[in-house]
Amino acid sequence: NNDTVSWVRGKCIGKGSFGTVSLGVDKSDGRVFAVKSVDRMACIPSQLEALENEIRILRSLSYSSSSPYVVQYLGDDESYEKTTSFRNIHLEYLPGGTVTEDHDDVDELTLRSRIWCLVSALKHVHSRGIVHCDVKGKNVLVGHAPGLVKLADFGSGKDYSMFDSGAPISPRGSPLWMAPEVVRGESQGSESDVWSLGCTIIEMVTGKPAWEDHGVDTLSRIGFSDELPAFPDRLSETGRDFIQKCLRRDPTQRWSCSQLLEHPFLAAAAPDSV
Ligand code: ADP
Ligand code: MG
Ligand code: MG
Repeated sequence: NNDTVSWVRGKCIGKGSFGTVSLGVDKSDGRVFAVKSVDRMACIPSQLEALENEIRILRSLSYSSSSPYVVQYLGDDESYEKTTSFRNIHLEYLPGGTVTEDHDDVDELTLRSRIWCLVSALKHVHSRGIVHCDVKGKNVLVGHAPGLVKLADFGSGKDYSMFDSGAPISPRGSPLWMAPEVVRGESQGSESDVWSLGCTIIEMVTGKPAWEDHGVDTLSRIGFSDELPAFPDRLSETGRDFIQKCLRRDPTQRWSCSQLLEHPFLAAAAPDSV
């Protein structure tokens, strides 16, 4: 069905806010990968912009050393399939689904290993001057072992070239995971990813977003109250302390990823092998 490129599109494995993710199979060696695609004619301009933004960020992240905890970027291309023209990103295929889907089977040891991977991924991303802006369970994918996860979906990401000092920002990402300063439109830096990480950990334990979705009311609670989301009972005291370090309302008081890796909750939590 597609003679213009060296691969064949397989079944759909995910749908996000803007496009589709399919399996791709290389015609020459049968290698399997994931293809994130936008239909050039059927999409709205912002969807194509998000894909081009993601390509830009993934390229700069894969330059020189990459992180084993960030979904690997394999390249990008265009394909013409029947009458449709697609813009595609090729990514390493992660077979285990998202961390939201399989939270039930996860013991605290596996959870700690997953969080270690996620914090390591974010530390790498932040060290490159990039803010992910959309850290949440659906963007954390499970790899070949239950304790191995990788950070995906850089469509909302921004790099230092997009930082402007002190000017109001337009919030990026998913509302229920947004940090208070992002909801208020004040700033969105690496600290804001750490708040989203805290919400994601709660989600990884309960399978549900940290905040219940009551629309504008919830956003005003996140941005303009002293409230914090409920911490899961199932978690140890050390785990709850870890979440507290992520969910400090004042971004300057929030722990950085380097500090979080030194927290007792993550001691000896690294996965056995990559
Ligand atoms: P969006 O920006 O539209 O949210 P994502 O990059 O998050 O797109 O991908 C949407 C979904 O597709 C993910 O939540 C996941 O279920 C699946 N997916 C994305 N990338 C991969 C991958 N590399 N391997 C396996 N599944 C993936
Ligand atoms: Mg996504
Ligand atoms: Mg996205």
